Amino acid sequence: MPELPEVETVRRGLAPVMEGRRILAAEARRPDLRWPLPERMAERLTGQVVTALRRRSKYILADLSGGETLIIHLGMSGRMLISTERMAPGGFHHVHPAPEKHDHVVLEMEGGARITFNDARRFGAMDLAPTAAVEAHKLLAGLGPEPLGNAFDAPWLAARLAGRRMPMKAALLDQRLIAGLGNIYVCESLWRAGVAPERPAGSVAPDRLERLVAAIRTVLEEAIAAGGSSLRDYRQADGDLGYFQHSFAVYGREGQPCRTPGCIGTVSRIVQSGRSSFFCPTCQI
Ligand SMILES: [Zn+2]
Repeated sequence: MPELPEVETVRRGLAPVMEGRRILAAEARRPDLRWPLPERMAERLTGQVVTALRRRSKYILADLSGGETLIIHLGMSGRMLISTERMAPGGFHHVHPAPEKHDHVVLEMEGGARITFNDARRFGAMDLAPTAAVEAHKLLAGLGPEPLGNAFDAPWLAARLAGRRMPMKAALLDQRLIAGLGNIYVCESLWRAGVAPERPAGSVAPDRLERLVAAIRTVLEEAIAAGGSSLRDYRQADGDLGYFQHSFAVYGREGQPCRTPGCIGTVSRIVQSGRSSFFCPTCQI
């Protein structure tokens, strides 16, 4: 499932072909994804200029010149495919691939790019909302601050976690507390900060919280940077934005040596709230 860095990478991949460009034509090939698509979506998108392409948590937000914002969620398996027309010897040559079974929404952009939303499992979503009220949309209302934003820091986190007995892992996955963190990057951040996933959230010392906030930012920024390098490869290939392989320090490494310098521990796996937590019992306390 794409997490914040993957969604940010997709946003950065789409920005050059969407921002400042008009949507010449839009097509919805089915009435619903996870939920019904907004009424007359294709009609409401056609002719609009994308004035900004933003991200909030795991949502991509395309602000439109007419005052609405297109909200895009990739879900479990959603991908954005970018194809372009190119000049070939002998004339104008179309290189858009033939439509595939799970191509659900297609945008023809000014400038020649075609953006296709392909989603085999259809856990993805799209909706339209007034730009001025988009933060109040049901998908976005109640989300905590962005972990890479200025509102997220150790004193703020300490105040929110004070007295709470829920495991630190669960606290960080709570989207009302911090927006956009998923299982993988929470595991990686807790390892980097030396905090055990089962530790009661209110019991983490202030200096550890400082380390944790720094770790969350670093882990996300490194993954976004890695996504940026994979983006260059994708752009040269078929413009398929959605899945990226990163290397992780603990996630998926059960039974392997801990990578903390000087630690002789072994990565363990436990299940918390139905999801795997990978951690080192030796250096995460
Ligand atoms: Zn360790």
